[in-house]
Amino acid sequence: MNQASSGHLLGLIRRGRATTRGELQRVTGLARSTVGSRLEPLLRAGWIRETPGPAESSTGGRPAVRLEFDASHALVLAAVLETRNARVALLDLAGRVIDEQAGPLSIADGPDRALDLLGERFTRLLERNLHRDGVTASRICAAGLSVPGPVDALTRRLVEPPIMPGWGGHPLPERLRAVLAGRLGTDPGLPVLVENDANLMALAEQRHGHPDCAAFLLVKVSTGIGAGMVVDGGLYRGIDGGAGDIGHIRTAEASDAPCMCGSRGCLAAVASGRALAARLTAEGVPTASGSGVRELLAAGHPDAVRLAREAGRVVGDVLATVVTVVNPGVLMLAGDLAGPPFLTGVRELLYRRAMPRTTAHLEVVTSRLGDRAGLIGAAVLLADELYAPGRADERLAVAARARAVGGAASVA
Ligand SMILES: [Zn+2]
Repeated sequence: MNQASSGHLLGLIRRGRATTRGELQRVTGLARSTVGSRLEPLLRAGWIRETPGPAESSTGGRPAVRLEFDASHALVLAAVLETRNARVALLDLAGRVIDEQAGPLSIADGPDRALDLLGERFTRLLERNLHRDGVTASRICAAGLSVPGPVDALTRRLVEPPIMPGWGGHPLPERLRAVLAGRLGTDPGLPVLVENDANLMALAEQRHGHPDCAAFLLVKVSTGIGAGMVVDGGLYRGIDGGAGDIGHIRTAEASDAPCMCGSRGCLAAVASGRALAARLTAEGVPTASGSGVRELLAAGHPDAVRLAREAGRVVGDVLATVVTVVNPGVLMLAGDLAGPPFLTGVRELLYRRAMPRTTAHLEVVTSRLGDRAGLIGAAVLLADELYAPGRADERLAVAARARAVGGAASVA
């Protein structure tokens, strides 16, 4: 990476390390004129904007012009797939939701049907916002898809997802790109990201609620159980994208219970929303899914409350080990089960089983962003990737070449 490139300066501005021309000079050691020429493509692209800073009354000097990333200069589309429904949204690059829509969608129907439905929903979403606040298909710079399964970090394809049979290895990014280009008229080369749901939720919750936490762990308990980790501000995915897939850790409590992954005795086989729905149904309270358990919990149903607390204890036992390995500052519980009874159960076992030193500074909390966390996380991750210094420089170079060709054509 070129330490003096436009992309490098953008990185300093986005992270708040330098927000005036003077600070950029000091941080980089570049001459004022060089800083100016490196900022020019960023200003021309609309990626940054200049605003008057606070007046420096003590010195009587002119206020320094502040530089900031313009998160509204482009838009992203995001979709969050759950087992039985999907939420789609139009967002800016800071994760501000401009409009969203949720509706039924069954992942059991497979990827082709799901992509068709997502295409329809994105089309309606764009149509109803078109030209409002300058919304156009050409301003959409990327799309993100959150999925409840493990994703290969390189190919962005699902890897043997236990609760998504038929989705493993499907070329989701390429197909979603084609669907969006065909239906909405977005760029046929649109960057498309597919990412695990707990990872995206963790990233969103860390940035918005705990920006100073250097080790942040989010555990999502809905149909399945998964965890996302943000370490030093970035996602920690592990070597194969499998980090945090804690639903298939074996537990003593579940020694014989069959799991969706084909194994027995997994955490998800006894403590997930799916497992609790099955238990409730067996006890005479018909419950179809994790979202059904969520509704019973919201209504204070005593059997659901009791089972959620029991499930919390089982998850808490596993989390005692996870927390000992990771030593996070924040452990956030999210998903269908993540209410007070579950939280109480987690705390009971976590503090009993984990070393006091690893929990001394641990905050155990529930989600702040709720059902929007995955959407916001998709926008945050897309912005991080598209405006990372190297990628930003590449994109600026492509834009400059296009302008040069366009200029030559117009002259001709
Ligand atoms: Zn399993």
